[in-house]
This record gives sequence, C-alpha cells and structure tokens, in this order.
Amino acid sequence: MEKFLILIMGPQGSGKGTQGKLLAEKFGLTYAEMGPTLKEYANENPEDKETIEKFQSKGKLVPDEIVMKAIKYRFGGASSIILDGVPRNKNQAEEIVALAKEYGLKTIGVYIDLSDDEAVKRLLARLVCPVDGFEPPYPESLKKTSCDKCSAKLIRRDDDTKEIILERLKQFHKLTEPMIDYLKKNKIELIKINGEPAVKMVQNNLIKELEKLGLKTNA
Ligand code: AMP
Repeated sequence: MEKFLILIMGPQGSGKGTQGKLLAEKFGLTYAEMGPTLKEYANENPEDKETIEKFQSKGKLVPDEIVMKAIKYRFGGASSIILDGVPRNKNQAEEIVALAKEYGLKTIGVYIDLSDDEAVKRLLARLVCPVDGFEPPYPESLKKTSCDKCSAKLIRRDDDTKEIILERLKQFHKLTEPMIDYLKKNKIELIKINGEPAVKMVQNNLIKELEKLGLKTNA
C-alpha cells in the first residue's frame, strides 16, 4: 500500500491543526504538530532544550538541524504521516523531501490560505486545553471557557500575544511562503485551499482533493 507524507502549511491561525487532526482521523494517519513535537523532543533531549525554548519564546524558527532531529526522533517512516508546520524554509523543504524519499513516502503539500487580518483575529481569540490540547475553532473560541472533552479551564498560548503573532506572521511570509514555489518546482503534489470558510467546508474540500491523489478514507 502506498504511504504518504502530508505537509500542512499555511499562516498561523489558518486551521492547520484543526484540519490536520480531522484528516488524520478520516484517513487513519499519524498526526504531529511541529511546535509541540519540538517541546516533546526538548524534554527528552536536554542538550537542545535551552535552544528550543529560546527560539519558541520569541516566535523565531528553531534551527533546522534541531527540527530535523525532532522529526526523526518522532517518526521512523513506518506509516503515513501528517506533519503540521513543516517545512518553513528552503533547507527544511529539501531535507524533508529527501527524508520522505528515504522512507518511501509520497509527499503531498497542503497549503491553507488565510489573510493576516483574519489570522490575527483568530489567534487573539485562540484557547487551548492544557490537559488534552483541545482547541475550539474560531469563532466558537470567543464563547468558550472550558474544554469540550475534559472540562478543564481553557488557557491562552504564551506566544499568542499581538507582538509575537505579528513576528510569526512576518517569518511566515518571508521564509515559508516561498516554499510553495519550491515544492512546485520539485514536482511535489500541492493542494491549495482557502482557509476562510467554516471548518467542515474546508475539510470536505481537502478530503476531495486528497482522494483524487490516492488517499482512502477509513469509513
Ligand atoms: P507555530 O504555532 O506553528 O507558530 O509554532 C510555534 C513555534 O514552534 C514557532 O514560533 C517556532 O519557534 C517553532 N516551530 C514550529 N515549527 C517549526 C519549524 N518547522 N521550524 C522551526 N521552528 C518551528
């Protein structure tokens, strides 16, 4: 059976996490978000912990060498995976495409588009469950205080302040947006989707496009 590496890209707040998790469930794939994967890796690898915390707390990109170490630590290439938040620059794109080849995975890029104004609005309203990571989608997040799954009090992320959000978006436009051209040039299948509509509609559009590329849903 063909195995896939799906790279979900898009500005912060475009719904990468929400869509990535839904797609993982729908197609029976492993899902990992790069921010938390780096934190997890940092906890097990004290030699890189300080560097990861320093970059993450400023909204700057963690050095590529550490990102690749964290990806390899998390995956062995045994199954199809969805990676949320990679690649963010050309070097990461080159390395991840090479790694996918080594693991025998077919790479598909998914780009979820969103305007900066909408991204800032969504991130300033973002809440997350400290226990299980649940995030109510925008605009429901405006009305929520507790987790749908475990009832814990929802909190704001440390890096979801206006100043750090703007820095993350700046880094996105400068370093990550050009990745789309890079992937196209390297003949990687690319799905571009508008992230503005409701979660369900974005999800249905993505499922249709992924099915066209050979992915099969669980049900
Ligand atoms: P995000 O929520 O996607 O903005 O990720 C949170 C933080 O994790 C970023 O501000 C970076 O410090 C770090 N990070 C996540 N993904 C990557 C990546 N692919 N390369 C470098 N740093 C990353």
